[in-house]
Amino acid sequence: MSDEIQRIPQHRHCLNCNRAFVGEGRYCTPECENGRVTELKKKRNGLLIVWGIAVAIMVVAIVCSL
Ligand SMILES: [Zn+2]
Repeated sequence: MSDEIQRIPQHRHCLNCNRAFVGEGRYCTPECENGRVTELKKKRNGLLIVWGIAVAIMVVAIVCSL
């Protein structure tokens, strides 16, 4: 049983595409890391828009209640 575990080489899974790869870092390729970064930026922008809408609704609600 333990022989079988040792036969599998040390590998990591890419945080972006989840592919198994051997090496340092968290991503299989620098391109993959860049893709992940832009994806995170897009998500952050989307979150900002949601926040902006929430704040706008709150402001309208406060103005209306005055
Ligand atoms: Zn990858």
